Amino acid sequence: MKFGRMDIHVVSDGTWRLDGGSLFGQVPKTLWERMAKPDGKNRVRLGLNCLLIQSPEGNVLIETGVGKKIDERRKDNFAIDGGKLINNLRAVGLKANDIDHVVLTHLHFDHAGGCTKFNRRREPVPTFPRARYYVQQASWEDACHPTERGRASYEPADFRPLLDKGRLELLTKEKEIIPGVWAKPTGGHCNGHQMVLITGSSRKVAYLGDIMPTPYHVPLPYITAYDQHPEQTLDYKRAVLKEAAESQWLVVFSHGFDVHAGYIERQDGRYSIKPVNLAVSE
Ligand SMILES: [Zn+2]
Repeated sequence: MKFGRMDIHVVSDGTWRLDGGSLFGQVPKTLWERMAKPDGKNRVRLGLNCLLIQSPEGNVLIETGVGKKIDERRKDNFAIDGGKLINNLRAVGLKANDIDHVVLTHLHFDHAGGCTKFNRRREPVPTFPRARYYVQQASWEDACHPTERGRASYEPADFRPLLDKGRLELLTKEKEIIPGVWAKPTGGHCNGHQMVLITGSSRKVAYLGDIMPTPYHVPLPYITAYDQHPEQTLDYKRAVLKEAAESQWLVVFSHGFDVHAGYIERQDGRYSIKPVNLAVSE
């Protein structure tokens, strides 16, 4: 899809499944199972949606999916069918070498796993060798020193090599990555979580990361059990939904399975989604 001078695509790394209780937090199953049917292990099918922005100033990738290093135990727990990002980038004619910037909303394994890959000696090295990788400093600290509650969501091999190879840029506030593409801290889901706002045309596009991971999470109380600061998530969602509805933002979902993106609409005080297809391939 064209946005001013930019071309924007959702590029999938694959799919996975997350326990419905974890996904919907305090919302009871009697409510969420009406819209998201779980499998026999109570897991809901999700996407691993990355966003590619092609602009004359460079190619920006937001998120990297789970990647290919994933161990068997995690693969099994989350029914991960991933590692497809590089193949799907080929569908728009790009190779790993063509990516100039990688923006990470945070460093949980389902977003940062594809930042690195194993070389022939099974050492993790950056997947996008020419790219600068951007993450908020607070998010980096959280990943490097996780609490007992957060530890299972991080895999140091996903992000440590970025520092070692000098590819990492730690942010402490908002930053314009290329003209019209902004990384903005949100907090909420984890310390230093950030979203990406694309302002390159009259219409804005927002990649909200795990602040609102799927269209199921549009209603305000739907916040995942993983959120470190759920009340911050709630405040941010309330503000962003209002602005997205008023200013006709196109919102992209990090984990939407059949709906990856859409316009937020407000009717009778309730928000809903009008889906838009931005996908290159599955
Ligand atoms: Zn996630």
